[in-house]
Amino acid sequence: MKYSQAIITDNLAKVLERIALSATRVGRSKDSVKLVAATKTQGLEEISAYQKACLELGIECICGENYAQELAVKAPQITNISWHFIGGLQRNKIELVLQHSSLIQSVGSERVLIALNKAAQKIDRHVPVLLQVNISNDPNKNGFLPAEILPELIAARSNISVAGYMSVLQYGLELGQVRAFYSELAKMQRVAGLQELSIGMSDDFDVAVEEGATIVRVGSAIFGARIFLNS
Ligand SMILES: *Cc1c(COP(=O)(O)O)cnc(C)c1O
Repeated sequence: MKYSQAIITDNLAKVLERIALSATRVGRSKDSVKLVAATKTQGLEEISAYQKACLELGIECICGENYAQELAVKAPQITNISWHFIGGLQRNKIELVLQHSSLIQSVGSERVLIALNKAAQKIDRHVPVLLQVNISNDPNKNGFLPAEILPELIAARSNISVAGYMSVLQYGLELGQVRAFYSELAKMQRVAGLQELSIGMSDDFDVAVEEGATIVRVGSAIFGARIFLNS
């Protein structure tokens, strides 16, 4: 393990402190923001350490995975964790993802939305999802363009409900641009009357919370830079 238990707990404490400070700055309660640990490439040891840290600091332990296969291997091995799916969703992996996640954050097309509803019907589950919005119009990113989000799209279906929006921005933007995109998505979320807004990663979750994030997804600020972890 790259980091000791003590360091992971300390990193988590710092992240929570940053969330609390940002929330306070804009008159929000820190409890209105859920932290999801982005655990792609992290092993069971790191995830267990994170779980202990959550227990110690009194927060719900939620982990977000990007790859269906990785999720399916990890989820059965650690209990008492909620898993969110935050990665690209292929239609042939939908059942796998559905089986293991309590929230699917990254629905980026109507085809996937329809397939998801059908798969949820089959196992008689009702699943909340977020629509991934390509708010910056980045040609390399998945997700709906803002103009594609029509009322029919966010209307409830038999076995899924759209709880909000999620966005992943490209690297290299200035914080001012990041804020503008987050603010735009927050406005869309408010206008649509949706509950959740999943924006913000290690480098910008302070700004995301100020702009109204209800979920932030944080990896490297807790576990260290992935480039080092993989080496
Ligand atoms: C990896 C990842 C994150 C976390 O990124 P960090 O910069 O390490 O905090 C958040 N969201 C998604 C979709 C990710 O893939």
